[in-house]
Amino acid sequence: MTENASTATGFDDLLEANRTYAATDFTTGGFDGIAHAGVAIVTCMDSRIDPLRLVGLSPGDAKIFRNPGGRVTSNALEALVLGVHLLGVKRILIVPHTRCAMASHTEAELRERVGASAGQDASWQGFHVIDDQREALLADVRAVRSHPLIGDQVAVGGFMYDVDTGLLDRIV
Ligand SMILES: [Zn+2]
Repeated sequence: MTENASTATGFDDLLEANRTYAATDFTTGGFDGIAHAGVAIVTCMDSRIDPLRLVGLSPGDAKIFRNPGGRVTSNALEALVLGVHLLGVKRILIVPHTRCAMASHTEAELRERVGASAGQDASWQGFHVIDDQREALLADVRAVRSHPLIGDQVAVGGFMYDVDTGLLDRIV
């Protein structure tokens, strides 16, 4: 492996924190992989979002699927099908959020910023930017509700998470 930023920085601080976590806060040893609260959440990778705690849940309670923008991609649907049929999911929350980078930049802008950071051409990299978050959320909820293996078997809701108040607003 060549020496670069990711190898040079190291992970010692995180591994140290992990040992503390395993010795103190870790509570799910021996748990199965079932979503014990029957909940699945699709949300953004944004670091301001704590998907379990914002709905009062804890590890072991829910299946969490995250990507840029909190979109229902084919991969998200795959996760939800598994969640519903094998992992106890009865309620699905689709949760995009305010001030999301994926909804406030064009694809060209993201490519330009990434290219500047990388010091090389990034025009080949796709970014699934969101023109209209509300429309995207409605479409995503429809995609889940109309999926033949998910459909009417579970409750599906679309919510906007406000990263400045911590509140969920039900949209659909
Ligand atoms: Zn986001």
